[in-house]
Amino acid sequence: MHIWTHNRCRFPLPPQHRFPVDKYARLAERVVAEGLAAPDEVHEPAPIGWDALAAVHDADLLARIRDGGLSLREERGLGLPWSPQLVERARRTTSGTLHAARHALRHRVAMNLGGGTHHAGRAFARGYCLFNDVAVALAGLRRDGLAARAIVVDCDVHQGDGTADVFAGDATTFTLSLHGARNYPFTRIPSDLDVDLPSGTGDAAYLRALEEALDTALPRATADVAFYLAGADPWEGDRLGRLALTKAGLRARDELVLDRLLETGAAVCVVLAGGYAEDVADTVDINAATAAAVAARVRPAPVAAA
Ligand SMILES: [Zn+2]
Repeated sequence: MHIWTHNRCRFPLPPQHRFPVDKYARLAERVVAEGLAAPDEVHEPAPIGWDALAAVHDADLLARIRDGGLSLREERGLGLPWSPQLVERARRTTSGTLHAARHALRHRVAMNLGGGTHHAGRAFARGYCLFNDVAVALAGLRRDGLAARAIVVDCDVHQGDGTADVFAGDATTFTLSLHGARNYPFTRIPSDLDVDLPSGTGDAAYLRALEEALDTALPRATADVAFYLAGADPWEGDRLGRLALTKAGLRARDELVLDRLLETGAAVCVVLAGGYAEDVADTVDINAATAAAVAARVRPAPVAAA
């Protein structure tokens, strides 16, 4: 399958920082090693234009991000030190989500090995998230007349406050977030449907809650395009999550979400969101399993007539 990655974009981080900057290259290598994508199916997106970002984000915020003018308080909320490389990287991963979403419209489902930066809202950047890639990608599809109604299924362990902020008042986009009740962000912006799960929720209770949430959300959304944030941080070994899903439970989650969304006829764009295992290899395992579930559902390109 075709995939998008910005894995060669690195940026300066203080030592011992939790942000898993090594994950992206290892994941891209793994996806090729497992035969899920051929080397020439791995794409490096160019940085997205500032005009595309302006369709979603506040102009003053974008100017502060572009010029390094974030306040100390904003930079602390972001949790990452500002650098030109950080900005370029965020523009590339946002572009990757737009490419994957366009591809999904033709091939049912596609994946960006990045994105899912759901804590970025219209006028704020926080929680490791500069731009809301999903919102920018959806705005791009809508501008080109490729999509109308949308759903965001956010299974990262943290609530999708930025996504909820961007789409508040947008009756054509349904936002669903399933997350740890006691996890960041501690001040919420409500999604259309928020499912708060108690610390220690394991596979069975999680999958039941997810099934129920999809039963409510899908008929209300009637979406033609879906974005799935397949966060790896509900895993039991995650340093920032409080849920207790196993790797098998996360695989079942991916399959459930993908199959339920595809059944509705929506095109599905999958993005990574978070994952903060002590050993980055565990996060890569979880993300690679998501990629395998996606690859198994991609509609093959039509065979050209002889
Ligand atoms: Zn997260």
